[in-house]
Amino acid sequence: MSDERTIDVLLIGGGIASASAAAELREQGFEGSIVLVTREQDPPYHRPPITKGYLQDGEDRDATFVHPQEWYAEHDVELLTRTPVMSLDCEARTAKVGREVIHFGQALIATGAMVRRLRVDGATRDNIHYLRALGNSDTLRAAVANAERIVVVGGSYIATEVAASLTLLDRTCTIVMQETLPLERHFGPVAGQFVHRLLTDHGIEVVGDADVVGFDGEGDDEGPVGAVVCADGRRIEGDLVVVGAGALPDVMLARKAGLVIGDGGGVSCDQRLQTSADGVFAAGDICEYDSVLHGRRLRIEHEQVAGAQGRHAARAMLGSEEPFAEVPYFWSDLADWTTLEYVGPAPAWDEEIVHGDPAGGAFSVFYLHDDRLVAALAVGRTDDVERASALIVAGADAERVRGMLAGL
Ligand SMILES: Cc1cc2nc3c(=O)[nH]c(=O)nc-3n(C[C@H](O)[C@H](O)[C@H](O)COP(=O)(O)OP(=O)(O)OC[C@H]3O[C@@H](n4cnc5c(N)ncnc54)[C@H](O)[C@@H]3O)c2cc1C
Repeated sequence: MSDERTIDVLLIGGGIASASAAAELREQGFEGSIVLVTREQDPPYHRPPITKGYLQDGEDRDATFVHPQEWYAEHDVELLTRTPVMSLDCEARTAKVGREVIHFGQALIATGAMVRRLRVDGATRDNIHYLRALGNSDTLRAAVANAERIVVVGGSYIATEVAASLTLLDRTCTIVMQETLPLERHFGPVAGQFVHRLLTDHGIEVVGDADVVGFDGEGDDEGPVGAVVCADGRRIEGDLVVVGAGALPDVMLARKAGLVIGDGGGVSCDQRLQTSADGVFAAGDICEYDSVLHGRRLRIEHEQVAGAQGRHAARAMLGSEEPFAEVPYFWSDLADWTTLEYVGPAPAWDEEIVHGDPAGGAFSVFYLHDDRLVAALAVGRTDDVERASALIVAGADAERVRGMLAGL
């Protein structure tokens, strides 16, 4: 027989979204019972260090935690680690949590995302790594010590950050990617050229326009990896491979619970981040919401947004009717070489206004669609990100962006 009990708020998932929701509830003076459940062994932690400081071994594990371990007891938040939520009944407002049945008043579902694995020949070979959890970073750091040639597959921020971090560890890396220039899919050619130059200047080889179709090596398909094989026949030798091929929202529990899943693959939410079930909210990488700011549905996989959504959902639980209306912010550190900051997002744009000098290492790019500012990227110009954010909210056109830049 399973144990049963009743609580006020159940926070499902051990990421920044849940941890931020717990903090906001307490900061708003909520005195009810809160249980935060994660299937991981660690309390909620920040994932960005997995490819940056933590991978470079510059940070200890505790420094990645969103709240120190003792915070949970101090704030009367019950933290259940190594505990999966097996099922959720949104109508009855119950959840099967480990061996318990928990009756809840309201819930947050924040189960995050899973890495997208490449389904190609040789995908199960040894020494092919993916990064999502701290443990993956531990394993990779141990493995690189014995690697001679490292190949990083992917042209997005995970791949470029990993290659930069491993270069700091004195390893030689080759990036293999579908894109012509790294990061160009999201940030365009100016940013792509800048990052390409930065990586190659630090000794990273960049192989573009390459579709990875398999992993080769000695022995059968479980043997050690020896090379990455591309569709056009190119082979890039490597005895260790890291893949950064994106993430997929982990909606397994939500789907089983009958929550509506959106066209973007996330849990469908309204403007307040409430799901299709009354009293059940979603936040973070799984949250697909109606953005009043963008006038379309969005699903964002950024650390700062996940935290802000967790806090927003907490306020919604306490009765706030406000829509979630933040301009999503993202940053990426390439070793200690540079930081890229971005506000948007822009799925498409037809004009780029470049300010500053990309060759000099400090510049910004303003992205416009139909003469309206939709996104901006800045390197070494944080103030431009803040200015762009305000202009995106104001619906600024190209003339206004140019006027603002001329006045600087
Ligand atoms: C390697 C890496 C580097 C990143 N770097 C950056 C960066 O530089 N900048 C940036 O803006 N963003 C970055 N991100 C993205 C950012 O970390 C995510 O957007 C953020 O972690 C999302 O938080 P979340 O709370 O939604 O989900 P997650 O952090 O994924 O947490 C979800 C948690 O729920 C748990 N869970 C799932 N199902 C269940 C269940 N049934 N029962 C119990 N627990 C469950 C999972 O195990 C996990 O612990 C990075 C992500 C990764 C992986």
